[in-house]
Amino acid sequence: MAKSIQAIRGMRDILPSQTPLWQFLETQVQTILKQYGYAEIRMPLVEHTALFKRSIGEVTDIVEKEMYTFSMNGGDSLTLRPEGTASCVRAGLEHGLLYNQIQRLWYQGAMFRHEKPQKGRYRQFQQIGVETYGMAGPDIDLELIIISAKIWQKLGLKNLELQLNSLGTMEERAAYKIKLVEYFEQQIDLLDKDSLRRLKTNPLRILDSKNPALTELIKNSPSLMDSLGAESKQHFNFICDGLTKLNIPFTLNSRLVRGLDYYSLTVFEWVTTELGTQGTVCAGGRYDSLIEQLNGKATTAVGFAMGVDRLIDLLEIKQVDIQLKPLDAYLILLGDHANQQKMILAEKIRQVVPNLTMQVHCGSTKIKAQLKKADQANAQFAFIIGDDEIDNNEIIVKPLRTGSPQQTIDFKNLAEFINT
Ligand code: ATP
Ligand code: MG
Repeated sequence: MAKSIQAIRGMRDILPSQTPLWQFLETQVQTILKQYGYAEIRMPLVEHTALFKRSIGEVTDIVEKEMYTFSMNGGDSLTLRPEGTASCVRAGLEHGLLYNQIQRLWYQGAMFRHEKPQKGRYRQFQQIGVETYGMAGPDIDLELIIISAKIWQKLGLKNLELQLNSLGTMEERAAYKIKLVEYFEQQIDLLDKDSLRRLKTNPLRILDSKNPALTELIKNSPSLMDSLGAESKQHFNFICDGLTKLNIPFTLNSRLVRGLDYYSLTVFEWVTTELGTQGTVCAGGRYDSLIEQLNGKATTAVGFAMGVDRLIDLLEIKQVDIQLKPLDAYLILLGDHANQQKMILAEKIRQVVPNLTMQVHCGSTKIKAQLKKADQANAQFAFIIGDDEIDNNEIIVKPLRTGSPQQTIDFKNLAEFINT
């Protein structure tokens, strides 16, 4: 017999038992973003490959080895989006939302990266991204960090550490790169294969290395913070001051360089020790150069993206219990006529009791079987309608959870009865 087809490795089903937790998270996050005046944008899942090559950078893990790239019928090279920022900028430019404007945007959806699947690392994963445009000052950087902190608070997630760094301007970074390359070249024997390659292509990325053998070497490397000019420092200090005044603790991490090429000035990550090596649940920063890099007119930009799968893992570890509201009613029909009319009757009920949650029984017409299903559906009440009830405009309401006796009530009194 042929083997049944399974989901692609690294791509998961989120089952009905799990979706309430996802919905809880999504609702909380959306509520907060709304409170801060952010508007949702929705972009396609597929873009021209060139968009990601040009924005994320050719010598990044994502573009080098993680993209799902294909072409249809010999057409252009297309890619399943590995992140949302590039698409958001592309959409903003295409619809004239960016230049000379202020935008506070968010999106959510699936991202695709061909990585080695493991706990907290999937090939299709979910991000909620927040992007802002047209604000050059550090105030908006601060606002974004405040929003992320508010989200953890609302979700009941404690023990997330905020790590903060400044990458300075492009010029400051260029000067620092020279110093850094000099430092690593003096100890070239200690570098691993990846780092040797990065020394030529993207030396800052060596600081991002997860190889424990390099920890000491990286720890003693020159600090980017020391290479920053007065303006960059001022930008950074504004954020640090704000966070201190708001009692949002943070750690300076001068090795935090982020995987992507387009960041400048502020970069930050929220990390936890509770998820093993996949400990970063949110990452962001300023990317003022990206819009020009994508042929737009210079526009400042800051944003962040949350890894929803990892946040869900955290909520599960914390055993956050989502109180599911049980189904209000399960509609049971007795006799041929009522069964014939069931969907019409159900609509009538929904009309008189707005917001009612109700399932209509489909299948066996035996009362016992129907009551069993009502119980399995976890309904509060069984609504029972037979020919007599139809003739008399009545409905039988049987409480399933309280042991109270069933009652026959006037159909027109149903809403009142249910709501009291
Ligand atoms: P990592 O260092 O863990 O690979 P990253 O720097 O590649 O992360 P970003 O591109 O900054 O990640 O994406 C923002 C967030 O999205 C990450 O902090 C993480 O929470 C989540 N994320 C990234 N890649 C994955 C993945 N493959 N599976 C699940 N979540 C992911
Ligand atoms: Mg990655």
